[in-house]
Amino acid sequence: MSTDIRDDTRAGFTDLFGREPEGLWSAPGRVNLIGEHTDYNEGFVLPFAIDRRTVVAVGLRDDRVVRVASTIADEVVEISLSDLTPSVLSGWPAYPLGVVWAFSEFGADLSAVPGLDLFIDSDVPLGAGLSSSAAIESAVALALNDVWRLGLDRRTLARVGQRAENVAVGAPTGIMDQSASLLGQVDHAVFLDCRSLESELVPLGLAEAELAILVIDTGVKHSHATGGYGERRAACERGAAALGASSLRDVTVADLPRAQELLDDVTFRRVRHVVTENQRVLDTVEVLRSGGGAVAIGDLLDASHRSMRDDFEISVPELDLAVETAVQAGAIGARMTGGGFGGAAIALVRLGDLSRVQVAVDNAFGEHGFGQPDTFVVFASDGAARN
Ligand code: ADP
Ligand code: MG
Repeated sequence: MSTDIRDDTRAGFTDLFGREPEGLWSAPGRVNLIGEHTDYNEGFVLPFAIDRRTVVAVGLRDDRVVRVASTIADEVVEISLSDLTPSVLSGWPAYPLGVVWAFSEFGADLSAVPGLDLFIDSDVPLGAGLSSSAAIESAVALALNDVWRLGLDRRTLARVGQRAENVAVGAPTGIMDQSASLLGQVDHAVFLDCRSLESELVPLGLAEAELAILVIDTGVKHSHATGGYGERRAACERGAAALGASSLRDVTVADLPRAQELLDDVTFRRVRHVVTENQRVLDTVEVLRSGGGAVAIGDLLDASHRSMRDDFEISVPELDLAVETAVQAGAIGARMTGGGFGGAAIALVRLGDLSRVQVAVDNAFGEHGFGQPDTFVVFASDGAARN
């Protein structure tokens, strides 16, 4: 992270609230290398924290008021801790204030904690599938855990962020994004079992292999709180129930022929995506662990994209074009990343091919009359921290 954004956040806090903050905390966005829509099916994911972060400057108050401001909005939102319930929250403040509320769901006693002033800045693109939502939740969660001395561990903080997003924001998302943001480590991905919540750091070895992950942000905005995401989640639950499983985690590739007989076509394809995607995550981890090198995961990335495009049907033409063009221009593998319906694709690219892939994608978007994508390299970075 550049020092600028921290300096900007501190300066923004001081300008607005007329005093110095107690401290700064930050948390990264994430790229999901592989394992999409598997998290809420109690399956496997393999995200990594990226070098784009959300920073929160925090000042303690001597009353019970919380005030929060962000560079994305021209307003200061103010609420008393005693009045804070999910039902009074909406819009962007539901993310940071939802986190404040969610602590009380995890045993924290907020009855006597002091109020706070919060100022938030970020260089994580919003709504691009890089989880600016988990970045803001994790930064705020780590900050409050410190300033209020609540003593929760990082895994619990991830659940606090998830609860805020599920209940205060109303987006039925899983635990992946917050886990990556809180548990990530430089040059590693976070292999997360979303059932046990056990996690393990897996070395990516990108630098040694002279590879990079290129993000292609299509600029197509998605919204988790509406439509498709909830519908996919419901289809997974329906499929699992029809197969007599408590979740799709318990359905394997060997069960798919039986699933095809039992389920309607759409539900079957939703199930097949999740089941094969779980296997692809396990295969990717196996390749990386066994020293096969990141170059060997290209086919798994490609297969993941096809599965999301054809079976889960969460891609959009811009994402398909980004993926196809990147691979044609020499990427080792590519897939859309994040919840879908817009957002970003990632491509695994040899360092020497980066500009060729970027130019090819820009040109293809131009030829198709799509708005120019934002393409940039991301590095696997450390998770949330006090700065
Ligand atoms: P993604 O997580 O892929 O970026 P989401 O729709 O899940 O997309 O979350 C984006 C939303 O999170 C924004 O619309 C905004 O409400 C909130 N948000 C994210 N970052 C910030 C920020 N720096 N300041 C205020 N709100 C933010
Ligand atoms: Mg999000």
